[in-house]
Parts: sequence; C-alpha cells; structure tokens
Amino acid sequence: MSLSNGRTYLAIPGPSVMPDAVLNAMHRAAPNIYAGELPEMMPELMADLNRVARSTSHCAIYICNGHGAWEASLANVVSRGDEVLVLATGNFALGWAETARRMGLECTVLDHGRRSTIDYDRLAETLNADSAHRFKAVLMVQVDTATSIRNDVPAVRAALDAAGHPALFMVDCIACLGVDDFHMDAWGVDVMITASQKGLMTPPGIAFVFFNDKADRARDKVEFISQYWDWRPRAFPDQFYERFAGTAPTHHLYGLRAALDMIHTEGLDNVLARHAKLARMVWAAFEVWGQEGPVELNVTDRALRSHAVTAVRIGDPHGETLRQWLIENTGVTLGIGIGMVDKGAPGADGFFRVGHMGHVNAHMVMGVLGNIDSGLKALGLPHGRGALEAASAVCAEA
Ligand SMILES: *Cc1c(COP(=O)(O)O)cnc(C)c1O
Repeated sequence: MSLSNGRTYLAIPGPSVMPDAVLNAMHRAAPNIYAGELPEMMPELMADLNRVARSTSHCAIYICNGHGAWEASLANVVSRGDEVLVLATGNFALGWAETARRMGLECTVLDHGRRSTIDYDRLAETLNADSAHRFKAVLMVQVDTATSIRNDVPAVRAALDAAGHPALFMVDCIACLGVDDFHMDAWGVDVMITASQKGLMTPPGIAFVFFNDKADRARDKVEFISQYWDWRPRAFPDQFYERFAGTAPTHHLYGLRAALDMIHTEGLDNVLARHAKLARMVWAAFEVWGQEGPVELNVTDRALRSHAVTAVRIGDPHGETLRQWLIENTGVTLGIGIGMVDKGAPGADGFFRVGHMGHVNAHMVMGVLGNIDSGLKALGLPHGRGALEAASAVCAEA
C-alpha cells in the first residue's frame, strides 16, 4: 500500500507544475511555420511577455535552457578579455560567472556566501575603485534558486548610479519572473534573462533575453558573434524564421501563449500577490517546525526570502531522507539541496527546497506542508508543534 498514488506534485524549483491549459495547447499537429497562425501570433506574444517583465525593451527568444540564456546574453555585449563583475548570493551567479570565464572573460566575483544578500558597501567600494571602468557589465541573480535569497535589484542600480559607473546592468530572473516583483524599465535593468520552465509554467526548452537600447549599442562593439546567439535577427526579424535562427519551437510557443493568457487573465499583480501569500504560508509552517529540532529556514530575514522557492537546512542526512519519504509515501517530490555544500561532500544531504512557483495554489501548498509534517513525525525528527495551524491561519487572513 502506498499513499502516493494519485496526482503527484513536483514541488521542485523548476521545472514547475505545468497547467492543463498549457499541456492541452501543445497537444496538436505540427503547424505551418511559413505563414498563418504561428507567425501571426508572435507580435502579441512578445507584447504579453514584455508585460510580465514590465518592459518596453527588445526580446530575443532562444531554443535553450537558462544556461543558454547566460551565454546568449554575454555573447551580445562583451568580447573575450573583457571584465565583468558578478554579485553572488548562492549557486546561480557562480554558474553565470563560470559561463563568462569559459567565454574568455575576466570575472571579479563578490561572493556573499549562502545566507546573505549583497553587501552594498562592498559593492560601492568595488565600483568606485574601478575608475578606469574596466567592468563592462555587472551580473546579478534576482532570486538565487539554491539559497532562496531574493536580492534587491533597484539597490544595485542605485549603487551603479551613485558610482557613476557605465557598466551594463544584467539580471538573471530565471527563477522568479512572474513570481517575485520585477520592473525592467523602472529599475534600470539593461539586460534581463529568464526561461520558460519556472514562473512561466511552460516546459523547459526556451529562454528569453530582454535588452534595452543601451545594451544593443554594446552589441555594436562586439567583434565576433555567432549566428546562433546574435540577438538582432531574433528581436528584429524581417522573416519569421529569423526569430529562431531556423525552425521555431512551435509547441513551446503554443504552450507559452496559454501560460501568458493565464497570467494576464488572473492579472500580474494578483499572480504576484498569490505567490507572496503562499510563500508566507510556507514560512509560517517552517518557522514553527524550527522552534524545536533541526529544521531551519536558510534565509532568516523575511525581506530577503523569495516567493518562488524556500531552501531549508535540516542536517545531514535528513534532507535526503525526508525527500525520499515524501516521494514514497505522499506523491510529493521536494527539491534537492544544491550548492549549499559541494555535491557528495559530507553534509550535502542536509538540505532540501520547496518549489512554490507558477501553477500553485493554497491546497497544493497545504498538502506539501501537511506531508512534510507527517514526514518529520514518521522519521522521528524533533520539530515544533502547530506548523499547519500557523500556515492555515495565514491562508485564512483577509
Ligand atoms: C533554473 C535557474 C537557472 C538555470 O536554468 P537551466 O534551465 O537549468 O539552465 C539559472 N539561474 C537561475 C536563477 C535559475 O533558477
């Protein structure tokens, strides 16, 4: 007997739960890629994407995942030997930095560890010290999916402005676009990258690079750019096929169309507010469990927590044991702890993450929390009592 049979919930931070509407939109024959519905739907699709980014800038779509967007964004604005400044608050900015290094860029990394946001004094010092303006770009991740830290994007813009530093400001919103608030134009972001499989509720396989005119002028100075990564034909196509440097990701586009319809029908502000409240339900439960025993939220300060994902410390090997217990007994799959300790190193099984991004609602979140509560009990892990009560109370708030 297993209690896991029934509809499962993949509560990992991407790929996220795919709505039936998205799946159904993709369940169709291959369309004509030369004319008709597919090319005709692009202008509105691009406009609706821009509305999620609160952007009036340009957007190139690539057939790739987030790692591809890391490379695509850099390929258009910097050249081998250029220097970039990377602000790391977990695993993903370090990944972007590694991509940069492998492209022959020099990286200065301000690494803030796994539990802190950006140190703005240190950032100001670093920018002021660069009077020769060697940094061509500053790279940050809005939400680090490994640590669940949410960084303050406008504060980094303010630091650049205060230092009078002309570097391009590039932000990775892969984890959190459509989940945590983001304003590309108002926040002065020059390049923003995201991907389909998290807040945008579409299968992995397409990624987006948004860029403004300043970033596009940097593209002029790039000496060599591969035909595939060049954002110009994709963002300013004469012919439909130029948008994708070849065959379009036809079914992803239908899925994305359905997902954007869902977001704009609900209303972006309501989508963000739903995620905020669901996140507060999750935090309320973990804060109570943490009153006794090993459970501890990775991010102490609520203001620094993402609404997309929650990283939890529980001590080796309980993270992995709890995850397995939930898979076998409840039909919930939690995310593994990544980047908190090197993979395979002692302690690496002492973490897990709960994804609560995209097509997620109150009963799904209460289900996950209820099942974690059972797991803690079944495994005999000490924990504070009343976590579900606390989450339920947040849910009941007006
Ligand atoms: C998921 C994620 C990535 C990587 O995306 P892939 O599609 O796995 O390549 C990069 N940055 C952040 C912040 C992410 O959440």
